[in-house]
Amino acid sequence: MNDGQLDLFGFVAPLTEPEVKVPSPDCSANGLVHFKYNPLMKKSIRCKGGFLFGHPEVLLPAYMKGPEFAAARELAAEWAEHAVRRKTQKNKAIVKDLVNRFWQTVDQIFTDKGETPLASKGRLPPIRPQGVHHNLTDVLAAINDTYFDGTLTCRITWSNRVGGLSFHSVRKDPVTGESFHLISISRGYDAANCPLYAIAGVVYHECLHIVIPVEERGGRRVVHGREFRQREKRYIYYDEWIKWHKEVLPRNIRAMRHHKAI
Ligand SMILES: [Zn+2]
Repeated sequence: MNDGQLDLFGFVAPLTEPEVKVPSPDCSANGLVHFKYNPLMKKSIRCKGGFLFGHPEVLLPAYMKGPEFAAARELAAEWAEHAVRRKTQKNKAIVKDLVNRFWQTVDQIFTDKGETPLASKGRLPPIRPQGVHHNLTDVLAAINDTYFDGTLTCRITWSNRVGGLSFHSVRKDPVTGESFHLISISRGYDAANCPLYAIAGVVYHECLHIVIPVEERGGRRVVHGREFRQREKRYIYYDEWIKWHKEVLPRNIRAMRHHKAI
């Protein structure tokens, strides 16, 4: 009698739960994209078309062979499938988005392991205030003049994460060593359907984080305290902005995740 064979009267359930399968480091989950590893590569990936029935082979840094990088490898496979195709405008945008998501995932894996993400090792995120539809520098200048007497010194960029949140952070310029405030605005606002009052609203909100520090109350960090909320409501289009933020922004972010133009 062979173990593991079905008997004629039905399957005898095994006593133990089947083990969770460790994803293979050699190919994508669907088995179509093959992975090779190179110990000299650190911050790059490459792909070659027509490896298996027209599917590509991806060359990855050797450290990505571990099981914790499975999600990143899947994104690399998806990236390669698009990267070997004809370079239409739409496909180019998808490739760019996938490569961004891939490196964000890699950074997140490093962060989850308690290690420094590759991207922040002495490198600043790219600062890109000019979007497809809107320029953040103009909006920031208007808000700075109107609500802060032009006293704020900060930089502003469209967020590099697809579907990312808007946030404020303090960065260090790698050249001068000086600290500066950086405001990152969700790309969901860089849309044809986004009125300027909505962008100005979120920029104003992030500017307030520069002037109103986080409060400590009973061991809790209060980011949007009473003073913050009061000052936030001084924005002339506050109600209109909140309505847009709640109703349209989530739709835009969903569309971006499906690679649609917004
Ligand atoms: Zn906030």
